[in-house]
Amino acid sequence: MQQVVVTIDGPAGAGKSSVAKLLARRLGYRLLDTGAIYRAVALAARTQGIAWSDAARCAGVARALELRFDFIGDRNHVYLGGDDVTAAIRTPDISQGASQVSAHPEVRAALLELQRRLGAGGGVVVEGRDTGTVVFPAADAKFFLTASEAERARRRVAELAAAGTHVDHADTLREIRERDQRDASRDAAPMVAAPDAVLVDSSTQTLEDVVDSLARQVEAKARAAGTFTSRDT
Ligand code: C5P
Repeated sequence: MQQVVVTIDGPAGAGKSSVAKLLARRLGYRLLDTGAIYRAVALAARTQGIAWSDAARCAGVARALELRFDFIGDRNHVYLGGDDVTAAIRTPDISQGASQVSAHPEVRAALLELQRRLGAGGGVVVEGRDTGTVVFPAADAKFFLTASEAERARRRVAELAAAGTHVDHADTLREIRERDQRDASRDAAPMVAAPDAVLVDSSTQTLEDVVDSLARQVEAKARAAGTFTSRDT
């Protein structure tokens, strides 16, 4: 079967990471977490004493980013210049930083090629905010995953608690709203569903059901892509 590009976009806490990880495993695909790249830029800028509002210097950080992903067990480890920053990029502070640095067009431009290179060749599940609209506009299977605000906040609190960080539900809800608002209203590659994306509301579905449904849709697309390829050649 043809190895296609799958994109999953959507707001914070919609379950993109969990769905993308399980879907990639089920299909035998690679996983590309583009949010981790913006998070790494925010962390690197902070470490170097560069303000998240400084577009030019943050773009410089993005261009020089030495990033590596590695699947260990069921965790997608992220290394920045050799350091394991898997946990360090997941704090609420870095979430806000990623949202701020990602609003700079210069930063997005600097990261575009890197994302396309990491996704080259297909057989990849890419997750983020603009992966179906800007990064891989010709992707074969596109999804826009969402869930109610309350459910997204609940999941984010549980996710952080599992990682040992205890945060307040109301604070989390406010942060999610703030981040979604910034991500959806920015001029550069705002978070929006691609016109050809399938909208999936995960509020009332289990993770397994969502993954199941997406896997079947991707397999159908992959079969169709294979058919078109063999007819074309
Ligand atoms: O998905 P995650 O929460 O890790 O993303 C962190 C931030 O990175 C998002 O709030 C968004 O501002 C930014 N981002 C983006 N474009 C992407 C992925 C993430 O702007 N493709």
